[in-house]
Amino acid sequence: MQIQWKSIDSFIGNSSATSLLMNRPCPICGTFFHARNLLRFDDLQFFTDSVQFPKRADISIVQCRQCFGIFQNPGFSPTAFEILFAEAGCSYGSSNIRPHEQVEWLASRGLLEGHRRILDVGCYKGEFLSILPDNHKRIGVDIDAGAVAAGNCEAAGTVEIFCGDFETFQLREPVDLITMFHVLEHLPRPVSVLRNLRAAASGPDARLVVEVPILEKGITNDINGFFSVLHMTHFSRQSLRNVLAAAGWCVVEADEKEDYNALRIVAAPGELAVSAMGSPDDLQGALESLSAWNSAVISVERMLSRIKEDRVVIWGGGMHLEFLYQVTSLFQRVLSRKYIIVDNDPLKQGKTWRGVNIYPSAILQKLDWSSDVSLIISSYGAQQSIAQASLDLKIPTHKTLKLYDMVTRC
Ligand SMILES: [Zn+2]
Repeated sequence: MQIQWKSIDSFIGNSSATSLLMNRPCPICGTFFHARNLLRFDDLQFFTDSVQFPKRADISIVQCRQCFGIFQNPGFSPTAFEILFAEAGCSYGSSNIRPHEQVEWLASRGLLEGHRRILDVGCYKGEFLSILPDNHKRIGVDIDAGAVAAGNCEAAGTVEIFCGDFETFQLREPVDLITMFHVLEHLPRPVSVLRNLRAAASGPDARLVVEVPILEKGITNDINGFFSVLHMTHFSRQSLRNVLAAAGWCVVEADEKEDYNALRIVAAPGELAVSAMGSPDDLQGALESLSAWNSAVISVERMLSRIKEDRVVIWGGGMHLEFLYQVTSLFQRVLSRKYIIVDNDPLKQGKTWRGVNIYPSAILQKLDWSSDVSLIISSYGAQQSIAQASLDLKIPTHKTLKLYDMVTRC
């Protein structure tokens, strides 16, 4: 394979489309058109270049003036979910990386005693269900038909997975325990989904376990920040309680995880709340999160200013790379500079991002690192593993730029 170095934005034909975005009411309280702007990214590109599909969108994150809920508006349309998220990989849907901890946690609360019917919402291929004790009836629902088919194949009848819309699916029999880990923040109408889950619950002893990242733990030192463009709602402690209450779920236990950003709640069927009382503190929380994000961008900007080479390899072709383009001066500093990207995701290899070719990392063995070439690691969570992989490929450490002094989560 011949390495071809390219200038930034050397691909013509990327586009946007109005069909990708839809205005929507506040997903927490239902109020329309009554929000302040917090953050906006223009013409943000979702992964690789395409002349066929519109993959760019203006992303706005706003805060409801009624309930202080924070959300993306306009939000993604069903078309956008299909097109923009096709290459999101582990960023969306399949990001549950702590299934064993979750099973132990459920067991420690007595939620896995006896013989229960358990439903995992957003189950992907059913990995979490497959490690639950097999004395339970294990059912999963997901919107990704490919993942459901693969999961049913792998599970070979031990778990039952079906493809369904979370807002409308119906079960033949009610369930005793429902789990939903890092799914609710991706959904356009969380209250509607939670109401459907309430209808699927067996009775007053049924429990819902839901986990999302929250604003109060959203102080980060990376350029992605807390307000992920892949999330439709950016929950806080209060706004998560509000959507649960609006769907008739009452909080039994709230557990904030120490080692990563997550609030895990156990809820029981309760009364429907008439209106949501928001927390004004969520404005301060949002501003603090944005302040930390700005500090992170300044720090990365400082690092990038040290690059002197005319050819730059970027390791990591995910959303972090688009953020380097959106919020730093990397690609505008030296216009004659040429780039390649390496990424070990087969979905991205052989394609381009903003005109720059994406190769598997093995191609780096062909480069002469004594020449005018340097490497930027474009990832936060995977920074250390990429640094190790680059060492394994005998890339000199003085040619490798890590953007973060400290990584606090993976
Ligand atoms: Zn609201």
